[in-house]
Formats: sequence, C-alpha cells, structure tokens
Amino acid sequence: MVPESVRDDFPILSRTVHGKRLVYLDSAATSQKPRRVIDALVRYYTTYNANVHRGIYEMAEEATRRYEESRATLAAFIGARRPEELVFTRSTTEAINLVAYAWGRATIRSGDEIILTEMEHHSNLVPWQLLAAEKGAKLRFIPFDGQGQLQLDVYERLLSPRTKLVALAHQSNVLGTINPVKEIAARAHAAGAKVLVDGAQSAPHMPVNVADLGADFFAFSGHKMCGPTGAGAIWARYEILDAMPPFHGGGEMIMLVQLETSTYKEPPHKFEAGTPNIGDCIVWGEAADYLQGIGMGAIREHEKRLTAYALHALGDVPGLAVFGPRDVEDRGGVVAFTLEGVHPHDVAQVLDQEGIAVRAGHHCTQPLHRRLGVAATTRASMYLYNTESDIDALVRGLHVVRKLFSPRPAPAQR
Ligand code: PMP
Repeated sequence: MVPESVRDDFPILSRTVHGKRLVYLDSAATSQKPRRVIDALVRYYTTYNANVHRGIYEMAEEATRRYEESRATLAAFIGARRPEELVFTRSTTEAINLVAYAWGRATIRSGDEIILTEMEHHSNLVPWQLLAAEKGAKLRFIPFDGQGQLQLDVYERLLSPRTKLVALAHQSNVLGTINPVKEIAARAHAAGAKVLVDGAQSAPHMPVNVADLGADFFAFSGHKMCGPTGAGAIWARYEILDAMPPFHGGGEMIMLVQLETSTYKEPPHKFEAGTPNIGDCIVWGEAADYLQGIGMGAIREHEKRLTAYALHALGDVPGLAVFGPRDVEDRGGVVAFTLEGVHPHDVAQVLDQEGIAVRAGHHCTQPLHRRLGVAATTRASMYLYNTESDIDALVRGLHVVRKLFSPRPAPAQR
C-alpha cells in the first residue's frame, strides 16, 4: 500500500496556488520530485561534479561509478538482462528518434511498412513519418474503438511480410488505455517485425518487464517517474544495439579516430556521444530506487483505486464525458474529459484559480483527438501522491466551472 505520508516526501505539495492548497493532477505531463531526488542532485553538484569516462582522479571516478550504477538500477527497473542494454538519452522523444535514425535508416527500405496506432503521442509518430518519407516506406495505423481499445482484428489484417516494425504506446497519455503489448508483440514477431514500446506513461506507474512484454525497444523518461527532466533512455536487446550504427557522432563514442574514418565503442557507449546529462542520469536512478522502495505493484494498485474513485465521482458531474476504458484493469490514472459547453482551456483556467493543476489541449495527440471528434480535452492525471481528497477538489472545481459557464436566464420582459 502507498502510505498517505508519501505526500510529505514531496516539498512542492505543501505550496499554495492562488491562496489554495495545490492539487497537482498533471503527472502525465511531468511528475513532482521527492526531497530525496532533489537532495541527490544538489549532492552531485556540491560534492562530486566531474565528467564521466575521462578523468582518472577520485571525483571523476566517483561520478563515473554512480552514472554506471544508475544505468544498472534503471536497467533492472524494467527487467533488462544487462546494464549495457540501456542507453541514456535526454527523453522518450530522443530515445524514439535514436531508433528511427540509427536502426530505422539502416533497416527500412522502400515499400516496407511500419505499424503504429491512432492513439500515439506525436513523439512516436513524427519520427516514423520522417523515416517513411526518406525511405519510401508506408505507415499503417491500428484504430481504437469507442472504449479506447485497439482493434486487434484490424491489426491482424495490417500485419504482412512487409511489416518491419510495430511501434506503440504501452499506456495512452490521453485515453489511459493500457495496450495488450505482449499479445501485439507476439503477433509482430510471428510476422518477422520488431516491436518498439513507448513506455513514457507505463514505466512510472506499473511494474514493467521488457522480456515479459516481448519488446525489442523500450523508451522512457525520468521526469515522469519522480526523476529530473533531461534524462531518458532507450532499452534494446544487446544484439540489436550491437548491430545498429551510431546515432550521434562525437567524443566518447569512439575507439579509434582517423581523419577519414572511425571505429566505435560497444553499446551503450556507442550511442552516448559527448558529455551526457551526468547529474540528472545519476539522480534518475535515485528516483527509481525511491519508487521501488514503495513498490511498483503498490503504486499501480493505488492508482487503480483512485481512478475508479475518479471515474465514479466524475460520472456525477452533468455534461461531463470521460474518454477511454471504463474498467480500471484496462487503464491507468489518466482521465481526459470534456465538459459540455465549456472549452477545455476555460475549464483548466477556472480550476487553476481553485489551486488545481490539470492540462488542457491536444496533449501532443492531434490525430487521436481528431478521431474522438474533439479539438481538445481537459486531462487530470494521477500519481502515488494523489488522494481521494484531490479528486473531491477536482469535482468541486468542476461544479464551479459549470456555475460560471451556465447559461444566464434571459432578462424578464417588461
Ligand atoms: N510518449 C507518451 C505516451 C507521452 O505521454 C510522452 C510525454 N507526454 C512522450 C512520449 C514524450 O516524452 P518526453 O516529453 O519525456 O520526451
């Protein structure tokens, strides 16, 4: 169980906004950070800041050791067999771009097909559009139904010997849907395709095991799992990374450089050119330790309970429509909705006046919103530090919104 005292670990949660208690319901955009993570970042800069993999002095060795320990922690966090399978990037976005450029450019040919879904975040869509345009490849899309679930019968028909990659979100950042990745990956592999899983919204919220999922690539970000911004990773099986050409060229990724040619280090260093984001990558490991101390299973259960509570409570708000699966077994704690007659930005602005932080817009999923037939939604997203009282505050806030935007009675005729 996640204890309520967990909130005390997050200094920001004691601040007020417009004179009200902060109710933070935007963890799908970025999570808050526990004091332990903030302190670890200060400790890095105040006691052992040095470049990694270069210096032979004590401090540089400590920075290198902690950077590599963090890699091992994060690799274990997602069930990787070896630390070398985890490449640090700046974000999920950069992780997916790394695969599109390094693996995709070497692998995808004219006429090949890449299967995505209609619920992808732009960061798992635009890199493939760029690759497909360059290579003359074709993108195909698995649609979702009225419950926000992928239509697997259509997927079955899209798969063919031309399919080289299936890339999809593990959990949708709008519908909350947890996709059946294991089943999708098994079918992809049977067709001879690789599978990339966008884990930006799953790794922070549930136990993840890349081997069990059957993923070939798994991308995730530190900032959505209580870690710092600017640190992300791509995991891939070692043989795949080993066979891939580099992404960025520069210092530290090379073995021998001559004027005309170079040879490269082994993974993961082949993909980490230049000075990495040392402090943030180290501290991300601290965040993973923190989450594991609480238990990813306990966090998932906490969010399931809270999501059920939210779906029930929001159901009582007149004119409110929630998107995504109704069953909390099929979804995470991301709840996107519309409120009849009120623009999502207005909803968010009024909620802000009540101290409630939610996101409004298309959440980097324009095609998904087009599919839903709405230009934008308001999104409340939860994490381990949210409680029922946050949901109660949201519902109270939505009643304030309704009151403000309810049509005024016409003035009496004289
Ligand atoms: N994929 C999904 C499903 C996301 O929710 C996000 C973040 N909103 C991303 C990718 C991109 O993550 P980042 O901004 O950390 O690169």
